[in-house]
Amino acid sequence: MTDDKINILIVDDEEQFLNSIKKRLEVRDFNVFAVDRGEKAIEAARNNAIDIALVDLKMPGMRGEETLKILKKEHQWMEVVILTGHGSVDSAVECVQDGAHKYLQKPCELDTLLEVLKDAYEKKVMNKQKLEKEKMDELMKFAQGNSPLEILRKLKEIDKGK
Ligand SMILES: [Mg+2]
Repeated sequence: MTDDKINILIVDDEEQFLNSIKKRLEVRDFNVFAVDRGEKAIEAARNNAIDIALVDLKMPGMRGEETLKILKKEHQWMEVVILTGHGSVDSAVECVQDGAHKYLQKPCELDTLLEVLKDAYEKKVMNKQKLEKEKMDELMKFAQGNSPLEILRKLKEIDKGK
């Protein structure tokens, strides 16, 4: 895994669709992890710093709805985009209420996918920056009237991401 590429995780049980998206994103310089089961997606996300996950709704085993919930719970900054086939738009809408960034209907145009990936990654970066700014503001306030040791402890907390 390289640090300068955006890491995308795709989980879909349709092998052709999975491989086609993987190839199309890889030639555009994304780092792609492609798996065919929700359980494997959870595992892949635990072992790799995924920026955005593309999650199919209908899969054998763990369904997309459940996969989404676990990914969002375990990875604060990860954005999840739901992939949905015909007839499951209702659950895709529910997924957005459960924290998915957006849903895309399959098959989707590459331009549309890239646009959605751009928005999702922008959201991730902005959320992270916003929290960091809030923490720094908090630190500036804390620094007034506290000892160097107390400030060091506070800095350590921020560094550890508490
Ligand atoms: Mg499927």
